[in-house]
Amino acid sequence: MKPIGAHVSAGGGVENAPLNAKAIGAKAFALFTKNQRQWSAKALEKSQIESFKKRLDEVGILPKHILPHDSYLINLGHPGKEQRQKSFEAFLDEVKRCEELGLLKLNFHPGSHLKEISEEECLNNISKCMNEALSQSNGITLVVENTAGQGSNLGYRFEHLAYLVQNSIDKSRVGVCIDTCHLFTSGYDIRKKADYEKTMQKFDTIIGFKYLKGMHLNDSKAKFQSRVDRHESIGKGEIGLDAFSFIMNDDRIDDIPMILETIDESIWAQEINLLHSLQK
Ligand SMILES: [Zn+2]
Ligand SMILES: [Zn+2]
Repeated sequence: MKPIGAHVSAGGGVENAPLNAKAIGAKAFALFTKNQRQWSAKALEKSQIESFKKRLDEVGILPKHILPHDSYLINLGHPGKEQRQKSFEAFLDEVKRCEELGLLKLNFHPGSHLKEISEEECLNNISKCMNEALSQSNGITLVVENTAGQGSNLGYRFEHLAYLVQNSIDKSRVGVCIDTCHLFTSGYDIRKKADYEKTMQKFDTIIGFKYLKGMHLNDSKAKFQSRVDRHESIGKGEIGLDAFSFIMNDDRIDDIPMILETIDESIWAQEINLLHSLQK
């Protein structure tokens, strides 16, 4: 089973996200549990939490098929101690919000070294923050996403994600999310069947499919290996439709949220249908 959805709006409150998911025929979704461009946010109100849970029930989407995304401001690898602490506190707050909403996962980007520290030092900063968040929470799995490797962002190699997984104090609560656009522009080809298999074999060897807790399904405006992060609608970019057909028919990918972050939300419902139609 492959539950597909999109990163839907939580405008007007998190409790609206399940309705927005239902409106596009989604069986999975992503959301921000707070404004992603601000550091602080009001605590969730009890009524909001209740309404969110009730609506989830009504639309028939399971918490394990929801992949909340953290704020873009957070950089757990920040070279500066104070800024890193600020990021950690915001991250922990997001973990707690997910707990309150009865959710099970939090998706985040690893972090950036800002050309001030080594990649290894940056990964160690991220790892420490993840472990601290794990020790201060219950039930939330931290899902770290691969990146295009734009600027000084880490996460553009499977080895980066594997390092974070392997250094986790609780491997049962850590996982990864693969974004197909980031995968492709960071230099892992998936356009032809043989390349797709090679990439997925690498993924399995270096990280392991058991850690795959979600996927972002995006085509790419940017070229292969460009390390540029620009999403495109499914089948309309440099990746092309075949790769999505390989994914939709890959038995190793099962029962995890598959989330569109494509640029034209007016066709999300069509894209969901298109992806289902690729399943043989
Ligand atoms: Zn993504
Ligand atoms: Zn992206």
